[in-house]
Amino acid sequence: MLSKLAQNANPSATLSINTRAKQLEKQGNDVVKFTVGEPDFDTPENIKQAAHRALQAGRTKYAPAAGVLPLRKALSEKFKRDNGLDYDTDQIIVSNGAKQALYLMMLCLLEEGDDALLPAPFWGSYKAQVKTCHANPVPIDCTSSPDLGLTPELLEDAITEDSKLLVLNSPCNPSGAVLDEETLRSIMDVALENDLWVISDEVYEHLLYDDATHTSPAGFSDEAYSRVITINSFSKTYAMTGWRVGYAAGPEEVIHAAGCLQGNLTSAPNTPAQHAAIEALEGEQDSVSDMREAFRQRRDLLMELLEDVPRVSCPTPRGAFYAFLNVEDVLGDTYFGDEVNTSEEMAESLLQNVSMAVVPGSAFGTDGYIRLSYVVGDETIEKGAERLTEFVHGAE
Ligand code: PLP
Repeated sequence: MLSKLAQNANPSATLSINTRAKQLEKQGNDVVKFTVGEPDFDTPENIKQAAHRALQAGRTKYAPAAGVLPLRKALSEKFKRDNGLDYDTDQIIVSNGAKQALYLMMLCLLEEGDDALLPAPFWGSYKAQVKTCHANPVPIDCTSSPDLGLTPELLEDAITEDSKLLVLNSPCNPSGAVLDEETLRSIMDVALENDLWVISDEVYEHLLYDDATHTSPAGFSDEAYSRVITINSFSKTYAMTGWRVGYAAGPEEVIHAAGCLQGNLTSAPNTPAQHAAIEALEGEQDSVSDMREAFRQRRDLLMELLEDVPRVSCPTPRGAFYAFLNVEDVLGDTYFGDEVNTSEEMAESLLQNVSMAVVPGSAFGTDGYIRLSYVVGDETIEKGAERLTEFVHGAE
């Protein structure tokens, strides 16, 4: 008999819809896919070359559990340069992607029965990870705020004596919301007054548009510095999703414990990939701004086209590469013979009837929305807007 945890485990919603989209493609359908959360660009050449050099130099052995020292040194510099944060190498752990860094931090901070506050919409894996720690994911509904981002008032209302941890994610997957510094400071005041730990997931920090700026809450005060774990990754900034290199920084006690856990769970992240990550940080950064500019143009195109799609609306995302569409007005009708009452049913019907793959808002704790990743070419964006319009017009 499997454990209860294993019995309740589900595949990620994004992956399962993507698999179904690929099956339909194999059957000859021209499916437009807005599902995946990874840059469509290849990893920059200088980073690939650095991996080559690491392999040629025989860097093929186990790394220290917390990651190779030269990478942790380069990350310490990165935190100073980009985030104004002073972390020494003992306060930094490199992991198999931000995903594992997040999970390690939850394992370090959550006891069975603790509540972890997740501003919704949230990235679905937070919920699954909290549950895996035998703790309770507690969504904070942020749909009343214009850009769907957390406010100090919403946080205040959600806190109870069981609240232990708050997970912040700015820029946000799936909404693209970016918390400005003033709001973030007020949120942190509430969190600290209530003795919460804060995980700040900053994996999209370099994907900002218009006048949006990124702020790391760990830098607000000594108290904030002692209660915030900063999470980041090479995946999105450097188009390195498959390399699996992410990291966490925070109080030494927490990072040390995470290193002990990681040592036993996975030994350490992949050694040559860590050496390539050093080049990502220290080599030329033009590719980062080039990719950002490409995403900005695609966002602008998508937002322009969505204006003409009836019955949907979307706050303009100021970061990451997702648009989170409010489809409440679409739900409750029949389309192409399908009754569509939930975002899941809408995603299913979109796939079946107009060959468009999107992720339902329910995967992010927020029904009534669908997520579109705009890491696709202009032609796909144009087709997507056409098919969404066709779908909405298909109401009977
Ligand atoms: N955090 C957020 C908000 C994400 O969207 C993702 C990936 O989609 C991750 C973390 C995980 O990134 P990584 O590839 O570094 O594990």
